[in-house]
Amino acid sequence: VTEDRAELARRAKRVVLKVGSGALSGGGRGLDAATLARLASDLARARELGRQTVVVSSGAILAGLERLGLPKAGTIQLKQAAAAVGQSRLMAAWSEALAPHGLAPAQVLLTQDDFRHRERYLNARNTMLALLELGAVPVVNENDTVAVEEIRFGENDMLAALVAGLVDADLLVILTDQEGLYTSDPRKDKEARLVEVVHPDRPAEFAAGKQGPRGSGGMEAKVRAAGRAAAAGVPAILASGFLDAPLSRVLAGEALGTLFVRAKEPLSKRKQWLAFAAHPKGQIEVDEGAKAALTLRAKSLLPSGVKSVRRDFKAGDVVSLTHGGAEFARGLANYSSEEIGKIKGLRTSQLEAILGQKTCDEVIHRDNLVLLK
Ligand code: GLU
Repeated sequence: VTEDRAELARRAKRVVLKVGSGALSGGGRGLDAATLARLASDLARARELGRQTVVVSSGAILAGLERLGLPKAGTIQLKQAAAAVGQSRLMAAWSEALAPHGLAPAQVLLTQDDFRHRERYLNARNTMLALLELGAVPVVNENDTVAVEEIRFGENDMLAALVAGLVDADLLVILTDQEGLYTSDPRKDKEARLVEVVHPDRPAEFAAGKQGPRGSGGMEAKVRAAGRAAAAGVPAILASGFLDAPLSRVLAGEALGTLFVRAKEPLSKRKQWLAFAAHPKGQIEVDEGAKAALTLRAKSLLPSGVKSVRRDFKAGDVVSLTHGGAEFARGLANYSSEEIGKIKGLRTSQLEAILGQKTCDEVIHRDNLVLLK
């Protein structure tokens, strides 16, 4: 775990660079070729330094809207349609920008579902690693055509954090329209100062500036994504996309933007999946004592702490844990919603009499539980 930028830069052999629509448009309507060319030479320089690079690129909707002559996409369907038109233009633009450097982009389109299902996750991972091995530059975007509301990321910041975990990146660099994270919105507050380091145990205590004009994420989404990457063990840097060569400067050890230091004890892949990718099937409301036992004393959830269950789920499903309706953890349930309904509030010694048989004492075992920040 390091705050030392030079050390971090030396270790960053595999880097994920996230570029949003705001940067790619260069403030204009469609994709800005000059911006893409600038980013491509930055990527090429990183390669010369012996680093592998993955790009998470937005811009499909933007390019599609321009091609279709539409001012903006109101509905999800229109966004999906625009993305379908624009994605090929986006790849063509990356291809053109990377060509002078002898680099080839590889289109990788993912949805949340690809991170939820183990087989698809592993397939995506294997393909990405093969591409890096071949020297291609994976250019990842959300597969907007099939991403219905339920499985959509909606913004690419979180996608970038998951991709960083997927390829076991050493560093995630998220480009924004500001120098980094500020103590308050620098566009409104003259006193705002740049936050240089964010520690994993003290994530964003800062009032982040809201939505930028173009992208869908805004500063909040970037901070959340950087925090998740750090929790998963990948340090993340928020830096300005308007600087010259931000990636290679970071890789040279320059202290640009805000560094999110990676967690000392990163979440295991399984807990990452639970926390960030899995889709809870139901909800378990617990009492105050159980919440304290889970969050402060690292205990398992016992039936005695359960107040109520919501929605139907089976044993083995992912559920979210709430107190006062607010989600604070996720885990894999050992019992179905129906069984938990019968044993809630009871002592473990009473389970067998009620259920006929008892598979285990815990409703959720500690090893299958992750706290959300
Ligand atoms: N997938 C969207 C696109 O390519 C971008 C989502 C975002 O703005 O982060 O246009």
